[in-house]
Amino acid sequence: MTIYTGPVFEMAKRQFSVVADHLQIPEDERDRLLYPKRAITVTIPIHTDDGRTRVFEGYRVQHHLTLGPTKGGTRFAENLNIGEVGALAIWMSWKCALAGLPYGGAKGGVACNPYSLSMRELEAVSRRYMQEMIPFVGPHTDIMAPDMGTNEQVMAWFMDTYSMHQGHAVSEIVTGKPIAVGGTLGRREATGRGIAFLVARAAEKLKLDLGRSSAIVQGFGNVGSISAITLARRYGMTITGLSDHTAAFYDPAGLPLDEIEAYVAAHRVLAGWSKESAIDPNDLLIQTCDVLVPAAVEQVITERNAGRLQCRILAEGANGPTTPEADTILDQRRDEIFVIPDILCNSGGVIVSYFEWVQDLQQLFWTETEVNAKLEKLLDMAFTQVAERAAADGISNRNAAMAIGVGKVRAGKQLRGLFP
Ligand code: GLU
Repeated sequence: MTIYTGPVFEMAKRQFSVVADHLQIPEDERDRLLYPKRAITVTIPIHTDDGRTRVFEGYRVQHHLTLGPTKGGTRFAENLNIGEVGALAIWMSWKCALAGLPYGGAKGGVACNPYSLSMRELEAVSRRYMQEMIPFVGPHTDIMAPDMGTNEQVMAWFMDTYSMHQGHAVSEIVTGKPIAVGGTLGRREATGRGIAFLVARAAEKLKLDLGRSSAIVQGFGNVGSISAITLARRYGMTITGLSDHTAAFYDPAGLPLDEIEAYVAAHRVLAGWSKESAIDPNDLLIQTCDVLVPAAVEQVITERNAGRLQCRILAEGANGPTTPEADTILDQRRDEIFVIPDILCNSGGVIVSYFEWVQDLQQLFWTETEVNAKLEKLLDMAFTQVAERAAADGISNRNAAMAIGVGKVRAGKQLRGLFP
């Protein structure tokens, strides 16, 4: 079986089989837990600005519907394929279950480079994507959100397209919307804030003084930038390294975050900010630091660099940044490097998405202080559970997080039984 073949799906599969062995899940139960319930592929034709017609491919994978609707982001990226989307949907399932959210995982996206499209073309792609997905999504079926290459504006177009079809405003169809159309306070910052909170939680456990510690952050999109800013401003950390897909900078004395933020606001990317502190992006991850935050794409920590990482805490802001081969190496370095695995580390985003959905369903809105307090409570509970499980079972934090997530989905499937 599979339409998902490819390196990213292979990775999700391997991670699952390690945990399935640990949980002693019988072979005949495994495929039911691992393989996605539905995969939808659509073509997205749009009129381009030069008067031609162009067709993009769009996907949505819904992993399981056992515990509620599916939930997950929408990625606009050049080389996106159904295997990658499938893996990301599976990771969403373990992530939601670990945080105790009543969702299965989903992920979707369009194979396109959003930065090469005009605003009008981007709107056309976004609206047509949602239009094609209308038969398969709904506030109680599958709720979309932002991911790489999409933002609040794209969510507003999704919400409008779905709502026009229904004949009334349906704000609960997507999360990560602008506040003005039913978004929640604190969603945009939630993933980065969550990462910083969990870094602080890990530092407390390791007795590391963050005020005297340094961090390197790979990625300067929504997740990377808010993580870096929160680590610096709330926790007093020195940011010594930063990168995006255009450039990487490193300065052991600390980078001027305010200046970089202003530069990116004006130029959209890091390229061109400085010549002196430029570094080869491949070398950034192996520089000495207390906290390393990969907050960009999958598979950046591999068997080639895992043995050379020089950090005390690895906080996985991205989904799937560490390959299973690298995991084996990190497992041997467990006493040196404390890993906050992706499905825990970046779960602040989907947790606040859940809060947004709840507020939209109730039409009763919370203050940002309430949102943040509830976010920290859920993150704290998840962190404690993972740390306890890792210690009790003698396994890595990743396997502990996955064991909890997979275990909850499995329990739901067992209790509901196999229909008919
Ligand atoms: N795309 C984000 C993730 O990977 C957020 C998903 C959501 O908010 O539903 O977790």
